Amino acid sequence: TKYVLITGGVVSGLGKGVTASSVGVVLKACGLRVTCIKIDPYLNTDAGTMSPFEHGEVFVLDDGGEVDLDLGNYERFIDVTLTRDNNITTGKIYQSVIEKERRGDYLGKTVQVVPHVTDEIKQWIQSVSSVPVDGQIHPADVCVIELGGTVGDIESMPFIEALRQLSFSLGKENFCLIHVSLVPVLGVVGEQKTKPTQHSVRELRALGLTPDLLACRSAQPLIGSVKEKLSQFCHVPVENILNIHDVPNLWHVPLILRNQKAHEAIIKQLNLVGSSGPPDLR
Ligand code: ADP
Repeated sequence: TKYVLITGGVVSGLGKGVTASSVGVVLKACGLRVTCIKIDPYLNTDAGTMSPFEHGEVFVLDDGGEVDLDLGNYERFIDVTLTRDNNITTGKIYQSVIEKERRGDYLGKTVQVVPHVTDEIKQWIQSVSSVPVDGQIHPADVCVIELGGTVGDIESMPFIEALRQLSFSLGKENFCLIHVSLVPVLGVVGEQKTKPTQHSVRELRALGLTPDLLACRSAQPLIGSVKEKLSQFCHVPVENILNIHDVPNLWHVPLILRNQKAHEAIIKQLNLVGSSGPPDLR
């Protein structure tokens, strides 16, 4: 299984969930089998006790797992049946580490965030991604991982570190990072500003992760020179800069990605063989 990681910068609520689901749709339309993991860095074990006014609907999975609404997006977009383990939270990770510590599994070692919590995260990701979610018996080709929150948040640090280690050990061909960022328009001039994206990419790099693709959210489609500028300053090839502008209907997002050949960029990065010809998104 190869991994596509979706991170977010600048502000929360950018549409990482929609981007992750839509990436899943275009990859699936290329004939690849896709599974998903959502990482929520909060301390709650699951979303079951959280106010819907803060977090939107609690999505209930077939196995009774009460999870973040993004898993509902994944199930609806990609047509898979996920399990409670496809939603990783800090609460679940710590619970498991503390249970192991009480059982004596760490053989007297000092239990620490690095390496014990980060190892637990890596193990969890690798074991969940190998479980098929589309009714077949073999593991999926690609696992889309969405990291909740914004890069730089204190609570997502153990996850970032675990993902950095994972990307390093798996290598470039097995791990593709898509960073979702915001390109706002300021003032009467109406200029599309690239600086917030530059800063969030810098923050990501400081943590040891390098974006392979950028997904820029904007109100209106990006103008060409803005893409060039982003490419130059963020060190990402211009064909790997995607633009997801505001749309009236979220089902348009996979079409936007297809039109910008996102599938080709991801498949090339991961050295995968998709079906020839454009993905069939009917
Ligand atoms: P995140 O996972 O980054 O918190 P979500 O994927 O949950 O964000 O999306 C946040 C909100 O933004 C949702 O209500 C979603 O409907 C909306 N949204 C996401 N992408 C777009 C888009 N391209 N056009 C319009 N609304 C969008």
